[in-house]
Amino acid sequence: MIILNTQGIVLKAVRYKDNDLILTIFTRKLGKIAALAKGAKKNKSSLLSSSQLFSYSNYTLKRQGNMYRVNQSDIIKSFYDLSYDLEAFSYATYITKLVESSTLENQTNNRLFVLLAQTLYLYTLDNIDKQFVTRAFELKFLDYIGFKPIVNRCVNCGEKNSNNFVFNAYEGGTLCESCSNMFNENKKIDITTIKLMEYILSNDILRCSKAKVSKYITYELQSILKQYLMIYLDGVNFKSLNLLSELEKE
Ligand SMILES: [Zn+2]
Repeated sequence: MIILNTQGIVLKAVRYKDNDLILTIFTRKLGKIAALAKGAKKNKSSLLSSSQLFSYSNYTLKRQGNMYRVNQSDIIKSFYDLSYDLEAFSYATYITKLVESSTLENQTNNRLFVLLAQTLYLYTLDNIDKQFVTRAFELKFLDYIGFKPIVNRCVNCGEKNSNNFVFNAYEGGTLCESCSNMFNENKKIDITTIKLMEYILSNDILRCSKAKVSKYITYELQSILKQYLMIYLDGVNFKSLNLLSELEKE
């Protein structure tokens, strides 16, 4: 019998039988796993709070066939309060869905784990631009799952100095002025947006969250990343994220 301890964040909790929950947990040591939290729905269960969505806890897990069973848990940070704020809840749901749908079972990704925990923490703060934090999350997330867009040079010829870079999601980054004619579907990109993307890629999200970014640049970044995510995250159901785009129109 294998028993192990690991930190984890609950990405999904689905009711099973009367009082049990099947959790999808993104763990530090095992990557994404499915785990049965037996009796977790009972009021007095010691597993109750660490079985809630977004919960960040220490889990003691026992392997059972293809699944794990939560033997014991100690909460580090619940993040459950995010459920009371529609904006924060929508963003938190969005990023946990991104992680859930694009990570493989049993594949660890420590940088992504830390990014998720830090971003959930940022959503609990009042004086924070959650829309911009979400864009920074998307960009760092793309990097950590292996789809980092190249923004410090031309993806085609390597040129670093061009007055008129464009962004081409299909080519995976920026194109210089002379190469841009060879490709279709270029998007306009402001030099400030390029610098911002470089900044986000080389700093942690806590630092990024302090950047003062204009609405125009956030909007341009959003438009670029949205297309990029659609191309590279095949199979992610962006329809389920409609609520978010409704909010962002406000
Ligand atoms: Zn070029």
